[in-house]
Amino acid sequence: MSVAERLLARLERVRQTGPDRWIAKCPAHEDRSPSLSIRELADGRLLVHDFGGCAAADVVGAVGLTLGDLFPDGGREHRPAQKHRPRVPAADLLLLASREAMVAAICAADFLERRTIDESDWQRLAQAAARLGALADEVRQ
Ligand SMILES: [Zn+2]
Repeated sequence: MSVAERLLARLERVRQTGPDRWIAKCPAHEDRSPSLSIRELADGRLLVHDFGGCAAADVVGAVGLTLGDLFPDGGREHRPAQKHRPRVPAADLLLLASREAMVAAICAADFLERRTIDESDWQRLAQAAARLGALADEVRQ
């Protein structure tokens, strides 16, 4: 089943308006006359535009799909920059994570001993949290 067929099967009042073009009722808002435009590109991707103003993510979300479902391969092939990115060794990521965790532990110890935690300590703690979040993103990719 093509990407277009998968989406069109879930929409109401689908009408083909040209080669690889359709209109349908937008599932994301109370759509009396079809205002959703769907276009299939040569590479199999789907362009979804709602003239009622709904975001593409909301439109596909309303029928149980995600934006990734608009790509023939779930969107993976269209991120070449990430595909060829050098991987950071897991050991390095863990070392960075443990260093940031140590910052949090030091702040917690200071707090426990009722030492003053000043603005720069809080900022460093926030930075540690942000870095751990960035590490999690790195691992997920
Ligand atoms: Zn809409």
